[in-house]
Amino acid sequence: MDRAFPQSPSLPVYRGRLAPSPTGLLHVGHARTFGIAAERAKQNRGQLILRNEDLDPQRCRPALVAAMVEDLRWLGIVWDEGPDCGGPFGPYSQSERRRHYLLAWKKLRDLGMIYPCTCSRKDVAQAASAPNDFDGEPVYPGTCRPNFVPGAAGLRSGGTAETSVSTWAVPAGVNWRFRVPDGEEVCFDDLHLGRQRITTGRDFGDFIVWRRDDVPAYQLAVVVDDGAMGITEVVRGADLLRSTARQMLLFRALGLAAPAYYHCDLVCDEAGIRLAKRHDSLSIRKLRESGRTAEEVRAGVACPR
Ligand code: GLU
Repeated sequence: MDRAFPQSPSLPVYRGRLAPSPTGLLHVGHARTFGIAAERAKQNRGQLILRNEDLDPQRCRPALVAAMVEDLRWLGIVWDEGPDCGGPFGPYSQSERRRHYLLAWKKLRDLGMIYPCTCSRKDVAQAASAPNDFDGEPVYPGTCRPNFVPGAAGLRSGGTAETSVSTWAVPAGVNWRFRVPDGEEVCFDDLHLGRQRITTGRDFGDFIVWRRDDVPAYQLAVVVDDGAMGITEVVRGADLLRSTARQMLLFRALGLAAPAYYHCDLVCDEAGIRLAKRHDSLSIRKLRESGRTAEEVRAGVACPR
């Protein structure tokens, strides 16, 4: 089934973004993706926003924010708004945007589109009959999913967990999951990879929008921010294709227009393994120290000299 998701590629103003998380040093894969994002903003005579995705206090470090900004500058990437230079849509650090995420959580709660979940990661891994999906998240088996109809005023009986989500004034203490439709095909035309079709309930299940340790989840924060900052095109790695589908569902649920998407090919190391922040030798600064130029690193040259 082709469902119409609102997209806004024809908006007169192009607004792209760079959204690194300061959980490790940026590597050549980021350089390539951010280089493409900067190039596309330039070609479209648009604006580029730097957003510091320091959402997770356990994993993010302030020293890495400074390193991130320095590495991006060395690459020759220029942005119009960001945590370092401000702008009309600030703050540009996710750790300072909690009130925006909380408003979205309340909206989803009032719409009956999310529910509290007490399952641990281990519970989910053990109970999931489906194999781990592409991005490593097992499909949630629905243990805590109430038997309700989203958007309906009341809840049908038969749920196994909380039946009245509206009694929750704050999200803390449990995970909150977004209830995905059963077997809906999420379709979109990726500007690089072409037509994408991702099926809910099979490729991913009910996903977390707010964590039990009271941290908003990446999926919710990124949708709220892309919406609030007027982002018209998201350039990101192809490893996030299924996250994009999740986010399109959230955009729709929150009544926001989704941006257009451009998913970049992933940069791999010499063994063909996708780069991660643990590939320290392929960090932008190590490549810079080894004599690589900013142009080479932006082009995705992944080996030290
Ligand atoms: N902070 C996320 C990351 O670094 C952002 C990804 C995105 O939404 O483009 O993976």
